[in-house]
Amino acid sequence: MAIPERFIDELVSRTDIVDLVSGYVRLNKKGNNYWGLCPFHSEKTPSFSVAIDKQIYYCFGCHKGGGAINFVMEMEQMSYVEAVRHLAQRAGMQVPESEYDKGRKEKRERLLEMNKQAARYFHAQLYAPHGAQALAYLTGRGLSRGTLTRFGLGFAPDSWDGLLNTLAQQGYDKAEVLEAGLAVSNDKGRIYDRFRNRVIFPIIDVRGSVIGFGGRVMDDSKPKYLNSPEGPVYNKSRNLFALNIAKKSNAGRIILTEGYMDTIALHQAGFDCAVASLGTALTAEHALLLSRYTKEAVIAYDGDGAGVAAAQRAIPLLERAGLKVKVLQMRGAKDPDEFIKSYGREAFAKLLDESTNHIEYRLEQIKRKFDLKDDAQRVEFLREAADMIAGLSGSVEREVYGTRAAQAAGVSAEAMAQEVKKRREQRMRKERKRQERRDLAPAANLQPAQRGLRYDNVRSAAAEEGVVRLAMLDPTLLEQTQGLTGAEFSAPLLGKVFDLLRDRHADGRSVQLGSLSGTLSPEEMSHLARVLDQPEGLGQAGKALADYIDIIRTERLRREGGTDDAALRAALERHRKAKGYGGEGT
Ligand SMILES: [Zn+2]
Repeated sequence: MAIPERFIDELVSRTDIVDLVSGYVRLNKKGNNYWGLCPFHSEKTPSFSVAIDKQIYYCFGCHKGGGAINFVMEMEQMSYVEAVRHLAQRAGMQVPESEYDKGRKEKRERLLEMNKQAARYFHAQLYAPHGAQALAYLTGRGLSRGTLTRFGLGFAPDSWDGLLNTLAQQGYDKAEVLEAGLAVSNDKGRIYDRFRNRVIFPIIDVRGSVIGFGGRVMDDSKPKYLNSPEGPVYNKSRNLFALNIAKKSNAGRIILTEGYMDTIALHQAGFDCAVASLGTALTAEHALLLSRYTKEAVIAYDGDGAGVAAAQRAIPLLERAGLKVKVLQMRGAKDPDEFIKSYGREAFAKLLDESTNHIEYRLEQIKRKFDLKDDAQRVEFLREAADMIAGLSGSVEREVYGTRAAQAAGVSAEAMAQEVKKRREQRMRKERKRQERRDLAPAANLQPAQRGLRYDNVRSAAAEEGVVRLAMLDPTLLEQTQGLTGAEFSAPLLGKVFDLLRDRHADGRSVQLGSLSGTLSPEEMSHLARVLDQPEGLGQAGKALADYIDIIRTERLRREGGTDDAALRAALERHRKAKGYGGEGT
């Protein structure tokens, strides 16, 4: 591991998880734990718990859990190392850098510098004689010289090695250019420029670094757009085109478009808050990224079927990230670029002001599916609308949109309210049933929520969980485990954790769950947070530990003894006598 484990132990011990989580979630103390609304799934009653004594969090709804590092990884969508750095900064600690880290950082900086040089080269080509056609193309699409400079637009000439040669002069070898995604190699191993005869859109991240490029053809050849491949510095689901500019906007919202040209046209018309996703649908990561810079997102996608479908997919993602979502209804043009060209800036501003919130938008989309003059279709419309409205969390929203749907279909608001209420009750009944099923099935309850971790032997696993729990609550108990090893456990994860805890304790190191984040996967950490969140008294801890170990060993003998009852009984008897212990029946 790149970061020394002792540093992680120290970091975890210096971070208070209640304090950390409070920065994101409003927590209330109830009993020994703190409770709040889970930040990882949508809910109305708190099932997210934080235990101050164990320094863990666990959600009984979505089963996410772990220590401080896992929380930051999940919340900030960071990698393990990024989360450690984030927490270290918060705690005022300096992360020791290994040679490996330094090497990686240097390499990253070199790649970014190369991208910057490439962007300069592309931009300069626009004004060279062979760039005349590209320049004419861009100005022909209505872009001013100022806009070309502002976005650093450029041109990749129709050449196999124009960029390669330029970068070679600056000391970059072909392998590096290949790695940066600026060149490609054919099956004969020949390396040549990736972008040829295309206008170029540099992709700049929020820190202002050029991380990749988009290239567009100027005629009808294919592919229309070609983007840098993902690599060490470019990740398309974590970056948005023009967010580096939009994040500084005072507009109080961000406009989401489907493409580079729409975004650039909007900026040129004075809407400096427009961004575009990069050749991919909007992701949850994009939504979280946006939520750092704005409270409101306006979706301004194309008016065609694909645009509507993309908007429908984007709405819940943006909502989940805590954004107020509005949808712009394109009229008389296929996209924002064309709209502004045809009707001008003022008309777009008006369209923007009229953009409806997403509930109206969804209601409108349902309305379009049916012919409301037809009685049978009107009933279908009411059913579908009532179902959508029943899922809204606010009672005021349900009333307002219920009334609106009723008006559209020509029925009374009361009738609609009845329909919504009925559907809402159905939803709640379903949810209660699900909860009851969970509560009534203790064996199923014990099974990890994560499929890959299912227990084969539930009885043994319960005892194994007990051992792990006790060891974490009172590490000195690890000195009374009668030579138990993880290999005797039925659940591989619990066995692995037991060995880890025993070795760490022997080394005089922390056995807090939170310090295991680097060794265990997020799924494993989630499951262990649940294991640790079960009640376990320390009153008779020594006796409880002995009981657990006995069950583990008995179950192991049972597994190994197969179906031969006599052999099993004899083995159990030997085992008991050897231990001088006769309490636990089987
Ligand atoms: Zn949850």
